[in-house]
Parts: sequence; structure tokens; C-alpha cells
Amino acid sequence: SNQLLGGTGKSDHGAASSHSTAHNSKTEQPQRFTFSPEPTMEDIRRMQAEFTDERDWNQFHQPRNLLLAMVGEVGEVSELFQWRGEVAEGLPGWTESEREQLAHELSDVMIYLVELAEKCRVDLPQAVLRKMALNKLKYPASKVHGSAKKYTEYKD
Ligand SMILES: [Mg+2]
Repeated sequence: SNQLLGGTGKSDHGAASSHSTAHNSKTEQPQRFTFSPEPTMEDIRRMQAEFTDERDWNQFHQPRNLLLAMVGEVGEVSELFQWRGEVAEGLPGWTESEREQLAHELSDVMIYLVELAEKCRVDLPQAVLRKMALNKLKYPASKVHGSAKKYTEYKD
């Protein structure tokens, strides 16, 4: 998988409408969606720290409060998917307004996640690298390819 490297090549972040139709002319494979390189997680941490400092809100932003706030935002994401049945990749049929609402709520989750990690002194980008290395060991591609079994079913 090239997920860690961010896709097959050219980024087409930005215009959501281009994702489903963009093709690589050489291979005729659909281009995988990629993110913009910025802001980084550290950029997000710093911007949120400035936001809270300017409002004197750090007195409220203890780890447990941030966790509960993040879970609340996950609920707001869930509301957007509620009662729709299964939703296909790329969210066909969603309006621009619904897509923007989703972008807002996912951002709220991300912002609280990053601040929670900061307040818990977890260096999140590096922690992600360590955890993904562990995931690779737990789920060797050669053993689990195309299977959704839990890792305990692969022992031996
Ligand atoms: Mg929200």
C-alpha cells in the first residue's frame, strides 16, 4: 500500500468535484484522494493554542474536558450520517452545504484531538508513526490481505 506516502502522485486536493473523475493518463487508474501538505499537526496545535490563549480558555481545557468535547464533536459528525443508510466513498448525492458541514465537524474533532494530545504530552505525529509500525506487525499484509478478521485469528 502507498497510503503512507499519500497516494499515487499528483495531488488534487481542493475541488471536491474533481476527485471522482480525475484519472492518471498513463495507467487509467482513478487518482487517490490526497490532503494538502499544510497545515501540519504542529501548525494546528499552535493555532489552537493561540486561539485558547487569546480567550483565556486554558483554564477550561483540561484533558478530560477536551476528551468530552471531542466525543461531542464525533456525535456531530455522526448526526450528518444518521438515517442515510450506507454512504459510498466520495459521498455521492451530498450537497455542497452538507459536505462543508462535514468538513467543519471533522475539523472540530481534529482540533480537539490535537489539543488533547498536547495537554497529555503526547507528540501525536511521532506517536502515529510508532502505532502504524505496530499495526504493520500485528497485521502482516501477506497474512491478512483482503480479510477483515481480527488479529487474534491470525496467531500461528
Ligand atoms: Mg462542531
